[in-house]
Amino acid sequence: LMQLSVPLNFIGFIYREIRQAMTDIEQMFDLLDVKEEVTDREGAQPLLVADGKVTFEDVHFAYDSNRPILKGVSFEVPAGKTVAIVGPSGAGKSTISRLLFRFYDIQEGAIRIDGQDIRDVTQESLRAAIGMVPQDTVLFNDTIAYNIRYGRPSASEEEVAQAADLAQIGDFIARLPDGYKTMVGERGLKLSGGEKQRVAIARTILKAPPILMLDEATSALDTSTEQEIQASLDLVSRGRTTLVIAHRLSTVISADEIIVLQDGRIAERGRHSDLLAARGLYAAMWDRQREATEAEETLRRAQQED
Ligand code: ADP
Ligand code: MG
Repeated sequence: LMQLSVPLNFIGFIYREIRQAMTDIEQMFDLLDVKEEVTDREGAQPLLVADGKVTFEDVHFAYDSNRPILKGVSFEVPAGKTVAIVGPSGAGKSTISRLLFRFYDIQEGAIRIDGQDIRDVTQESLRAAIGMVPQDTVLFNDTIAYNIRYGRPSASEEEVAQAADLAQIGDFIARLPDGYKTMVGERGLKLSGGEKQRVAIARTILKAPPILMLDEATSALDTSTEQEIQASLDLVSRGRTTLVIAHRLSTVISADEIIVLQDGRIAERGRHSDLLAARGLYAAMWDRQREATEAEETLRRAQQED
């Protein structure tokens, strides 16, 4: 019996040590306010996409609990329609796209696709249903073909090339010495912001998802590149439920609804002409951008005359 009590004591000691260590880890996470990673809930079912309606219902969200970012945001993107989100930088526009993809869970309200709360479905099925063209695309350190084919790994070489053509990057790739086999990413050929975005668009064209989430990062691009990208984006979004975050208002004129987000709340909403007539925030943004565009054009004309 004596012989046995030593190892038992020892096991007890180890057990207490481990328990203490666990408590320490829990406290450390509390202190750092580290969010639990998003996980599939028990019994999560695959998302069943009927026609792809997206609904935000009184969504509240904060990255850090003491600084709310979205303060009760509600809107609907009807199946096959396009809703645009505009507003000043820092308003929470990109956050909306991250929440739809469920990179984070919301604190209050619900986000639904065809009535299903996105927290109740598997992340895999959710992400398969959404094509995301983010503000800054990070490419894999692999070939340009791999980066496009990632949208649908079973795609043939012809399909990859077709998607690249539709995204207006096919000619660019054809001119590279190694063509589609060119290595890109941090350790390969560095692509410009516009080129990376077109790779992301080609990937999304291949994926052909029912729902599109476009975070246009066109502010850094010149007008002609922007127009080319816009044409490819219009093509992908035809007939698909599309949520577009627009930096240039010229791209949202035809949206079925425009939502003006300011400081985490919807400040104005409606169609382009209604918002202009309302002479509010949107109308002011519109006037400012038109002046900027006109100044840009005057400058270009002056340069051409030189
Ligand atoms: P927008 O796209 O409208 O410019 P964002 O949605 O990117 O705005 O950001 C909204 C606010 O959330 C900003 O104040 C930004 O600093 C903050 N924010 C964005 N991402 C994070 C993050 N990962 N952690 C903490 N705060 C963040
Ligand atoms: Mg943004």
